[in-house]
Amino acid sequence: MASGEWSGTMCLTESHCGTDLGLLRTKADPQADGSFKLTGSKIFISAGDHDLTDNVVHLVLARIADAPAGVKGISLFLVPKFLPHDDGSVGARNGVSVAGIEHKMGLKASATCQINFDDATGWLVGQPHKGMAAMFTMMNTERVSVGVQGLGINEIAYQSAVAYAKERLQGRSLSGAKRPDLAADPIIVHPDVRRMLMTMRAYAEGCRALGQWCARALDAEKHSDDPEVKQRATDFVALMTPVVKALFTDLGFDAANLAVQTYGGHGYIREHGVEQFARDARIAMIYEGTNGVQALDLVGRKLPANMGRNLRPFFHAVSNLLEEMAGVEDKALKAYVGGMQQAFGALQLSTATIAQKGMKDPEEAGAAATDYLRLMGLVGIGYCFLKASKIAYAKLAEGAGDDEGFYKAKILTAGFFFDRILPQATAMFLAIKSGKRSLMALDEAAF
Ligand SMILES: Cc1cc2nc3c(=O)[nH]c(=O)nc-3n(C[C@H](O)[C@H](O)[C@H](O)COP(=O)(O)OP(=O)(O)OC[C@H]3O[C@@H](n4cnc5c(N)ncnc54)[C@H](O)[C@@H]3O)c2cc1C
Repeated sequence: MASGEWSGTMCLTESHCGTDLGLLRTKADPQADGSFKLTGSKIFISAGDHDLTDNVVHLVLARIADAPAGVKGISLFLVPKFLPHDDGSVGARNGVSVAGIEHKMGLKASATCQINFDDATGWLVGQPHKGMAAMFTMMNTERVSVGVQGLGINEIAYQSAVAYAKERLQGRSLSGAKRPDLAADPIIVHPDVRRMLMTMRAYAEGCRALGQWCARALDAEKHSDDPEVKQRATDFVALMTPVVKALFTDLGFDAANLAVQTYGGHGYIREHGVEQFARDARIAMIYEGTNGVQALDLVGRKLPANMGRNLRPFFHAVSNLLEEMAGVEDKALKAYVGGMQQAFGALQLSTATIAQKGMKDPEEAGAAATDYLRLMGLVGIGYCFLKASKIAYAKLAEGAGDDEGFYKAKILTAGFFFDRILPQATAMFLAIKSGKRSLMALDEAAF
């Protein structure tokens, strides 16, 4: 597997259990030779079977007989499609079969399989009943990767839409024809088309910068020799993993949707391929834990963990930068700093609100979760744009040469983010402050 010759899957989901893995039923019977026999059915398994590699190795969550109920009784097993010989070559077929292939909205190149295990031979990975912790070693990395899938689709959606908007001729600019030599102006002249392009661009650049910050922390967590740096990086990664997963995939889908809109009817039909971005982007908001569950992880686990210590590296970075830039002279930068101060204030107040109300009533924390995650993500992106703008101004002042256009565009994209996107932070705060009342008031029978 490490050399890439055999591929792998992760088999968690069953028909009756997705988010709530405590309900899972696949069982594992211990054998005299130390191996196990696994029996059960999994669904929705990505790349569950194919002939691209000689073997497919399934990492399967199952219950050993007499295990405690719920997630505390789940163990992790390695179950190959073909049992390997002692020399590592592929041997006999194991008791693993494909019961069906899911028919999906997108992601057509991956066979998403229903898989049956019938007395399949497997081996325990890690300790008995500690399968969730073992699986989460992989899941945490996967969540960041899925976030980056959202970013990837965001970027290609943006690039495609820009190319189209420069070519497609419709209508005339409101400020007078820009291309009188042509039958009409390219649609990139229209403010509403600009709104879509700038939104996609700001999402892509903002998420890429925040993603880089997290990637550097992941490296520091793994490789730093300084225990303090390592700890801070670990705390930051823990906090940001659900944010990267949910925010990047939400915005990736929004960007794909905007790309379809930029193309008009030509986006909705298949010819140009942009409708595929929207279909493919949708799953990233669901798998590896739905985005709603990421938000619950943020408010329910990551915030309260270690008495709120996970927040410190992030909050310190933002407040240090705001302090550093408090006296900036430039008018545009001053406005960026002001916007960030307001949004950071909204995040701090929201954090306090959730800590107070959520302690007394967990439903209050649940009701705030999705808005809070978005708010934290927007502040994270705002921090990155503010820092990038500061650097861009400094580079321009010292003479940026061939990179002048790049730095100017960075400042203008940041400007769009601060004018048009970051103000949403205030709305998030107001929604959080309103609490669970309006969500929970309607009687179930009235739905
Ligand atoms: C294309 C595809 C590929 C996949 N690949 C894999 C794979 O390789 N391996 C694998 O094991 N699984 C895989 N999955 C499964 C995926 O991880 C699950 O679909 C996902 O975790 C959600 O589970 P569910 O579909 O059962 O939804 P449910 O758990 O039934 O959730 C339904 C809704 O209720 C919400 N919800 C559920 N519980 C709570 C709660 N406690 N609080 C608040 N809201 C809640 C959810 O957010 C969601 O909106 C894949 C799914 C798809 C569609």
